[in-house]
Amino acid sequence: MDGYVNKKDVFNEIVDSYHIRTDIQFKALREALNKVPIADVVPVQHAHWIEKKHPQYPDICHNKYFCSHCNKTAPTYYLDYSHEIISEKWDYCPNCWAIMDEEVNE
Ligand SMILES: [Zn+2]
Repeated sequence: MDGYVNKKDVFNEIVDSYHIRTDIQFKALREALNKVPIADVVPVQHAHWIEKKHPQYPDICHNKYFCSHCNKTAPTYYLDYSHEIISEKWDYCPNCWAIMDEEVNE
């Protein structure tokens, strides 16, 4: 899997680490970075599910799970073919697309 970096961060790191100070050095560095292909990437949002009781019927309704990033919920309960209640939490939030792999110490 490829990793992605911010060209500005690479530029600043090289300037600091290799003491780039002259116009010729800056020009050479800019030209080298301009040769590196650009990829369109989207930052990945990490989040976790927060379990909350139903506000009106906490004793008879199943708890709902809310996304820690957008605070919206996703359906987590359904009936299978034998009408058993199945609970499954999504691996991602269907509202904001956050990946639900955030570690939480509770
Ligand atoms: Zn979300």
